[in-house]
Amino acid sequence: MNPSPIDVDLALVGGGGAASLVLAALDRHDLTGLRVAVVDPVHKRGQDRTWAFWGAPGGDVDPLLTASWSRVDVVTPAGRRVLSLDPLRYAMLRSAPVYDRAAAAERRLGAARIGAPAGTLHDDGHRVTVYDPAGRVLVRAGWVLDSRPRPPERPGRTTWLQHFRGWWLAADRPTFDPDRAVLMDFRTPQPVRGVSFGYVLPVDDRYALVEYTEFSPAQLTDAGYDAALRGYAALLGLDLTALRVRELENGIIPMTDGPFLPRPSPRVVRLGTAGGATRPSTGFTFAAMLRQADQIARALAAGQAPVPAPAYPRRHRWLDAVALRALDRGHVGGVEFFARLFDRNPPERVLRFLDGATSPAEELAVMRSSPLLPMTGAVLGDAVDRLRVRLRRDPTPTVPEAGSRAAGQAGS
Ligand SMILES: Cc1cc2nc3c(=O)[nH]c(=O)nc-3n(C[C@H](O)[C@H](O)[C@H](O)COP(=O)(O)OP(=O)(O)OC[C@H]3O[C@@H](n4cnc5c(N)ncnc54)[C@H](O)[C@@H]3O)c2cc1C
Repeated sequence: MNPSPIDVDLALVGGGGAASLVLAALDRHDLTGLRVAVVDPVHKRGQDRTWAFWGAPGGDVDPLLTASWSRVDVVTPAGRRVLSLDPLRYAMLRSAPVYDRAAAAERRLGAARIGAPAGTLHDDGHRVTVYDPAGRVLVRAGWVLDSRPRPPERPGRTTWLQHFRGWWLAADRPTFDPDRAVLMDFRTPQPVRGVSFGYVLPVDDRYALVEYTEFSPAQLTDAGYDAALRGYAALLGLDLTALRVRELENGIIPMTDGPFLPRPSPRVVRLGTAGGATRPSTGFTFAAMLRQADQIARALAAGQAPVPAPAYPRRHRWLDAVALRALDRGHVGGVEFFARLFDRNPPERVLRFLDGATSPAEELAVMRSSPLLPMTGAVLGDAVDRLRVRLRRDPTPTVPEAGSRAAGQAGS
């Protein structure tokens, strides 16, 4: 028998990264009177990912951080730049403390947990009904925050992946410099199409996450990632026979200019990757999720609708589409693109730019520092593609030519 569905003010459909940050923010803003439900067949616990992100110190997640660095290295075949991030810092947050924090928030908020997959959402403009895939009602809510993974509304003009494998390496003697993380190390062999880099996030002098990442159209095989990581460890001068791989971390993050709908209906808000929080040109997502979680809790605390600002300004999404296109079509080399970005701008500007938090004047400066001519080609190509897509979707009615097919028939 299906127990009668519960009625809440706010249902979180999907209880992963974005929802965990929302739960923590609701708790922090002391929204204990709010009736909340979380719908997810999986109750996220433990370590399934490591988030790296930058921001000003002193934020809400600071007590949960595993490590943070005020200086990071960007390395290219031409040399090493040490970037002082002050007043920002680069930080590492493992998923286990975030999920624990969300579970504690859930308890304090008295949230209902529904351990079933959600299917369709029906929004009548006043309330949203959440069904399971068999069409049974799971919950009714005033608002739904939906973070279930989904593809973009339509395929992007460029679709890449950020895909990676990391080893948590343990050493018996001091091996890593805990004061310095490597943000991006482009000395790795570059793929034919795409860009690759390694990075190192040391927790202390004997323990670090060493990762190999590619921005490219397709994943590698298991053996391919292992070989790439072995190669990167050799570049770092690490003797793998003296190190233990304590944990493995794999991941795929979409990098696409395909649109994600942040608000598919009046009372449904999409969050996380599904809501467009993943920055197409870098895959970074966490800072936007954190920002939006706080905006949602603040709005609810003020008696307003839980609708955050878009994850990134429209002009950033356009710039990302251009950058992705330029990289994909080979208008610009990946290493050259990132090296110039860090060479010709203060690090703080670059990091804020990558988070979507710069002003138009700063963005102009960033644009100027990128290889301008090839980028212009990419901008024009992007504009032509947009126009083509628009014309395909919204064709201007024309007088049919003699002998042309009737409307509605597929062309060959
Ligand atoms: C290994 C890894 C490392 C990453 N590292 C970084 C990083 O360093 N920095 C950064 O900025 N970003 C990073 N990201 C990207 C991004 O921050 C994470 O993917 C983040 O977890 C996205 O949060 P989310 O809520 O959108 O999705 P998820 O955390 O994946 O949560 C989605 C939830 O939806 C649930 N779900 C699925 N189907 C249903 C259904 N039918 N009904 C109900 N619930 C459902 C799932 O069980 C899951 O709990 C990383 C991603 C991965 C995979």
